[in-house]
Amino acid sequence: MAGNDKQDGLTRRGFMKALGIAGIASTGLNTGKALAQEAAGKAPSLPKRKLGKTGVEVSILSLGGMFDTLNNQLLLRQAHNWGVTYWDTAEGYGNGMSEDGFGRYFTRNPAARKDIFLVTKFRQGTAEAMTENLDKALKRLCTEYVDLFFIHGIKDFSEIAEPKPLKQWVAAMKKAGKMKFFGFSTHANMEDCLLAAAKTDWIDAVMFTYNFRLMHTDKMKQALDACTGAGIGLVAMKTQGGGPVKTDSEAELQMAGRFLEKGFTDKQAKIKAVLENPNIASVCSQMPNLTILSANVAAARDLTKLGGSDFELLHRFASETREGYCAGCGRICGDAVAGDVPVSDVMRCLMYYREYGDRELAREVYAGLPREARQKLTEIDYTNAEKICPQGLAIAALMREASELLA
Ligand code: SF4
Repeated sequence: MAGNDKQDGLTRRGFMKALGIAGIASTGLNTGKALAQEAAGKAPSLPKRKLGKTGVEVSILSLGGMFDTLNNQLLLRQAHNWGVTYWDTAEGYGNGMSEDGFGRYFTRNPAARKDIFLVTKFRQGTAEAMTENLDKALKRLCTEYVDLFFIHGIKDFSEIAEPKPLKQWVAAMKKAGKMKFFGFSTHANMEDCLLAAAKTDWIDAVMFTYNFRLMHTDKMKQALDACTGAGIGLVAMKTQGGGPVKTDSEAELQMAGRFLEKGFTDKQAKIKAVLENPNIASVCSQMPNLTILSANVAAARDLTKLGGSDFELLHRFASETREGYCAGCGRICGDAVAGDVPVSDVMRCLMYYREYGDRELAREVYAGLPREARQKLTEIDYTNAEKICPQGLAIAALMREASELLA
């Protein structure tokens, strides 16, 4: 398998494809075991962890509902049965059919609502607009309250730190019984957002991009320590560490082989790596089908710890594929293009397209970016941004690709 010629490259890709199938078989091993235990009534329950100062024990695996849950009621039932009781959705997910699907589930299974830690989110607006949006979301979700509400996808804490009415709005919504807890989600400049949140007293929880590629930096460690110290509950997302570029890597082969020997796939290992940090209360994973759900449940139930050599493999893989991953440090490239294009958001769309294989979602998120930015995408000079991008991404080429694939 060594060598770099085209033949070897094709062989490697073929092998990785085979490994993908083996991966399913391997999750089948774990999943098969889990199913057998389930049938025998001996299934271990999905562990729970405390979500910071909320004091609520949440399942360590969260159902990311960025898909049509309206027509996937069986999946919701299975997630519920398997103890995946933290459910995450948002206005607009699944073309608007995610919140509706959760609502249908609660209508059909009224007793289920009390089991589920329900989270939704939307972007910040005026207090009046947000109250209206929240009321509509509650109606779609067929519930009187959400357990946790997030302002969706901030890039800088100053977006929500001021004006103060947001804090007052949160207090009013809590008082009205429409939300129990409040926080934000972030895909960009995560460390700075977390550090700023830790200095406040009104953020209960944060969902943020966190994975084997990002967990080792001093700044990320400081940010997590600060939030943990402040009692902010932490939920990790984008834990697979996929990026806008698909890459082949010898480390990936070794990593996949090594983990398969241990009985789980590299995808499961990446979830376990995040969960080995006890300060992460839950991993939010997009689980649009039963194969992914069962594999992730098996990974979350499995108590096997990753060893130092496992983390070394993950680290080597991260370093070999560095140029294919956008670390979300959007302020760096954003400043270099004078804020004209939200480069990290476009990279995320490419990640949805290539890593998730979800073209519809990629195009949907891309279409939600400012029209002016989309129009300028291929006209901007990215030379300076490329010079300072810590991941060494070929930004100009990727922006061109995004424009062709997603427009
Ligand atoms: S393109 Fe580079 S600088 Fe911009 S967010 Fe991604 S990794 Fe950071």
